[in-house]
Amino acid sequence: MRLSRYFLPVLKETPAEAQIASHRLMLRAGMIKQAAAGIYSWLPMGFKVLRKLENIVHEEQVRAGHIPMLMPTLQPADLWKESGRYDAYGPEMLRIRDRHDRDMLYGPTNEEMITDIFRAHVGSYKDLPLTLYHIQWKFRDEIRPRFGVMRGREFLMKDGYNFDVDHEHAMHAYNRHMVSYLRTYERMGLKAIPMRADSGPIGGDDTHEFLVLAETGESEVFYDSAITDLSLGNRDIDYDDWDQVALICNEWTKPYARTDETHDAGLFEKVPEDRRRTSRGIEVGQIFYFGTKYSEPMGATVNTKDGEKVPVHMGSHGIGVSRLVGAIIEANHDEAGIIWPEGVTPYHVGIVNLKQGDGEADRACEDLYAALTRAGFEPLYDDREERAGAKFATMDLIGLPWRITVGPRGLKAGVVELTSRRTGESEELAPDLVVDRLR
Ligand code: ATP
Ligand code: MG
Ligand code: MG
Ligand code: MG
Repeated sequence: MRLSRYFLPVLKETPAEAQIASHRLMLRAGMIKQAAAGIYSWLPMGFKVLRKLENIVHEEQVRAGHIPMLMPTLQPADLWKESGRYDAYGPEMLRIRDRHDRDMLYGPTNEEMITDIFRAHVGSYKDLPLTLYHIQWKFRDEIRPRFGVMRGREFLMKDGYNFDVDHEHAMHAYNRHMVSYLRTYERMGLKAIPMRADSGPIGGDDTHEFLVLAETGESEVFYDSAITDLSLGNRDIDYDDWDQVALICNEWTKPYARTDETHDAGLFEKVPEDRRRTSRGIEVGQIFYFGTKYSEPMGATVNTKDGEKVPVHMGSHGIGVSRLVGAIIEANHDEAGIIWPEGVTPYHVGIVNLKQGDGEADRACEDLYAALTRAGFEPLYDDREERAGAKFATMDLIGLPWRITVGPRGLKAGVVELTSRRTGESEELAPDLVVDRLR
C-alpha cells in the first residue's frame, strides 16, 4: 500500500475524551471513529487489524475441530422467552419492535439461537460431538461504554457452542477450548491467563476467564507468578487426544489465578510469598460448561446408544475479538505510539522515502516495495511529499514492526537503514539484503 493512496486519517492532537492509551492511540492512528457512544466505525487500518485477529481465531478454531458458520445479529424474542432469559437479561439487551409489532432484539450472545438450530436438525448421539461457532457483532447496552473498543456497546465476538452426549465429553470440549484459546492469544503476542471465574448471566458451573495483565484492566486479579512463565510454543497438539489436552489444561490451571469474584484469600496465602501477585487484568475471553441449562427448557435432546432420550450437554465459549485490538495495544505501546506484535501487525514493514521526487530514492523505494511484495510481505510505503520528521512520527504512531529508511545520502554509500520499532535499534544494509534480513 502507498500512503499517498491510502486512507489513514492520523490525528495530531490527543483526543480529550480518551482516558487510556489504547483508546487514544486507536483514535490518533486513524483506526476507528466513534459513531455513537460505544459504537465505532473501523477505518481501514483498524479494520485490517481486526481482520487479522479474526483470521487467527478462525485458524485456531478450525484446527481444534470446530465448525464456522454465521448467525444473524437480530433475533426473535420468542427464543429468549423459551429459555427464560428474555426478562432476566435486563437493560443490557437492546430490544427492538419490527413493523408487525414483533419483539426482536440485537443479540448479546447466541445460546438460544444455536440451541434452536441444533434441536431442528440433530437427534442422535451419532451426530455428536459437535462444536459450531461464529464471529459476529453483538450488542450490549452497557451502562458505561468506555475505553474505546474495550467496552463498546457494539462489539465483535467469536462465540462457539459445543454439543455433547454427556458431561465427560462436554468437559473434553471445554478443555479443547481452553487450549485453542491459549494458542490464539499466544499467536497474538499476548499473555492471557486462564482464571477461575464466576458464570454470571450465562449460568453454569465450570468457567474460566482469560485475562491480559494491564494496569487499565477492569478486573482485579490475584495469581501465582509461576503461571506467567508457561507457554505452548510450537507444541504439537492433537485435539482428539483427551489426555494430552487435559494435561495442558492442568498445567495452566494448577497455579493459583483468580479474579476478585472468586478470589479465596486463604488459598492465595498458600502461594509462596515471593510469587504472590495482585494486579489488574482485561478479560479477553471466557469459556463455560453449563450442561443442560438451555437444552432442557428448549427441548434439545439426542437419543443415546441405548435408545434413551437425553438433553444434550452444552458449553459456550467467547473471545472478544474487537476488545483484543485494544488489549494488544495496552500491552504493546510506548510514548510515541503502538508497537504491533508481528502476528497481528496491519503491515509488516514501512518504507520511508526521505526525499520524494529524487529519482534515485524513488527508484530504490519502488524496487524495495516490489521485492518485499513478491516475497509475501505487506509493505506500507510513505511516498507523500512530507518532512522526514513527520514521516517518522507517523511510522512510530502506527507501530509497524520494521521501518526501512531510504535517502539519497545512504544510497550513495550503497545502503538503506532498517529500524526495529520495538528496540529502536537500526542497522545499515544494502537494499538487496533487506528481504532476506526480514525473512
Ligand atoms: P465483561 O465482564 O467485560 O463485561 P462479559 O463477561 O460480560 O465481559 P462475556 O459474556 O464473557 O463478556 O463475552 C465474551 C467476551 O466478549 C468477553 O470475554 C470480552 O472479551 C468480550 N466482551 C464482552 N463485553 C464486551 C464489550 N462491551 N465490549 C467489547 N468486548 C466485550
Ligand atoms: Mg459484561
Ligand atoms: Mg466478565
Ligand atoms: Mg465473561
